[in-house]
Amino acid sequence: MSEAARRQLQSVFGHEEFRDPQEAIIDLVSEGNDALVVMPTGSGKSLCYQIPALLRDGTAIVISPLIALMKDQVSALLQFGVSASYLNSTLSAFEQAQIERRLEDGGLDLLYVAPERLLQERTLELLERCDISLFAIDEAHCVSQWGHDFRPEYIGLSILTERFPAIPRIALTATADERTRDEIAQRLGLDSAQRFVSGFDRPNITYRVTERQRGREQLLRFLRTEHGDHAGIVYCLSRKSVDGTAAWLREQGFDALPYHAGMTKEDRDHNQQRFLREDRVIIVATIAFGMGIDKPDVRFVAHLDLPSSIEAYYQETGRGGRDGLPADAWMVYGLQDVVKRRQMLEGSDAPEERKRVERRKLDDMLGYCEITSCRRQFLLRYFGETLPAPCGNCDVCIEPPEMWDATEVVQKALSAVYRMGQRFGVVHTIDVLRGSGNERVHRFRHERLSTFGIGADLSVNEWRTVFRQLIARALLEVDVEGYGGLRLTAECRPFLRGEKTIELRKDRVSVTARKASGKREISSDEEPLWEALRAKRRELADAQGVPAYVIFHDATLLEMLENPPTSLDEMRALPGIGDAKLARYGETFLEVIAERTHTNPIDVP
Ligand code: ADP
Ligand code: ZN
Repeated sequence: MSEAARRQLQSVFGHEEFRDPQEAIIDLVSEGNDALVVMPTGSGKSLCYQIPALLRDGTAIVISPLIALMKDQVSALLQFGVSASYLNSTLSAFEQAQIERRLEDGGLDLLYVAPERLLQERTLELLERCDISLFAIDEAHCVSQWGHDFRPEYIGLSILTERFPAIPRIALTATADERTRDEIAQRLGLDSAQRFVSGFDRPNITYRVTERQRGREQLLRFLRTEHGDHAGIVYCLSRKSVDGTAAWLREQGFDALPYHAGMTKEDRDHNQQRFLREDRVIIVATIAFGMGIDKPDVRFVAHLDLPSSIEAYYQETGRGGRDGLPADAWMVYGLQDVVKRRQMLEGSDAPEERKRVERRKLDDMLGYCEITSCRRQFLLRYFGETLPAPCGNCDVCIEPPEMWDATEVVQKALSAVYRMGQRFGVVHTIDVLRGSGNERVHRFRHERLSTFGIGADLSVNEWRTVFRQLIARALLEVDVEGYGGLRLTAECRPFLRGEKTIELRKDRVSVTARKASGKREISSDEEPLWEALRAKRRELADAQGVPAYVIFHDATLLEMLENPPTSLDEMRALPGIGDAKLARYGETFLEVIAERTHTNPIDVP
């Protein structure tokens, strides 16, 4: 079986070798067994059912919740010469009838269906008449009621066990902790399915967190210096800041589009389509955007506001770099985020038990922001894995933050809060510490306090950093019902009394994270060929109404740039070019390459 699988991998998909668990999964499913697969985004889950679909007789039914993406998934397969189609509500009755006929005639290797469609009695009966090779249940975590992507229709999928007991099923997801895995197995009748769980790590993503000074300006600088012509996602907390940031980025010359739940469905779909299809669009979005976005060439995910939990952060940043090329997870974060998030949490009317869970999640998120050791080690530890050595590909590893002994400063801050009666916010407390004689200070006679003016040697910004770290470390808490007054926590005592020393990190506005991550810079010599390759890809994609990456991934174009092929044989050796793509596009791209390289004499050693 393995040999046949490898042949498909090479001739259809143009890849030389299987990645780690792929081969075992493909063998197992091709032989008619069930599997439950948890593999991180970008690790190659699709091939785990696509190759068995080609090897087994009959049609594979792929169940996916994302109707909007089915068309692109199918286009990608058609480009590889695989016969695939989809059934959903976007098709006319006539088109649906045609596809059903092809299915009955055995003319399809894969058919994508939404769960609600699959569960209709009519569809089930249709499938019973047909020769089905396997069921692949994508985004299988949607069956979990505890996760944030719960889809009630997924629960109904247990019916597959009863109606199609002899047909193998493979469930796949990128995110499932132990409990969710059990839940998936139980609800989908996959108790005896073999499980494949690979590590969570996304080594090609560079994690960076920067202290916020002026968030948008920092974002602009990051985009200008590192992602001038890349596709990416910018996450914001509110609809208003989504609209504002998108408009502002457009003024700065970026092709940035908003996406949030307050827009009409048409506008949202339109923007999502442009993002998916083109290769330089930036989407500015609330968390409403992203599930199942399988655009491979998202080069950065930026957070202008703090996510609510590590899970959310990991899932959102995980949308970058699916193609395995370097991608950035970039975030700015500041005092205001801490206060705002805490207020949102305490101010919600969730039951106390839920709040307790969320408080802990937020604390973990803050811990991640303030961490002074490797960020990836922290993330993986959070998901129950160990990374033995620091990663070398996060801002902390690349440029370790400077620490300073803040024992005395912290003592001043805490005693100022104490003497002011633990009911004033950060701004006022800093005024008192710095000895500014404004009206509010006089009104409360705070100039008479012994703490008045004892912190004049630090700037307002430096004090804000101190308070942020104290709140993040839970030495201070923010009164969220009133006006954000600061209160001491029990943890404070040893510091107030000077019994314990404390170090804080120095802020920095940006870290040039490129030293270690090996991002491929296009040199000015290469620029003409690179642009020509992209333009040709764009033209071919537009002509067929498919996303650019469906023609060739960036990784394939980069190979053409680095080792320009001069013959079809050489072209065939590049990753991502199988027989069908070679036949369709080989000549065309050879011409583009020849045109741009013929003036350069070839070096003969
Ligand atoms: P997932 O569904 O796990 O997020 P995909 O199936 O979309 O990931 O695959 C991610 C990328 O990895 C795609 O660009 C795909 O072409 C590539 N890929 C998958 N398997 C291999 C392999 N064995 N060798 C090289 N590239 C691969
Ligand atoms: Zn690191």
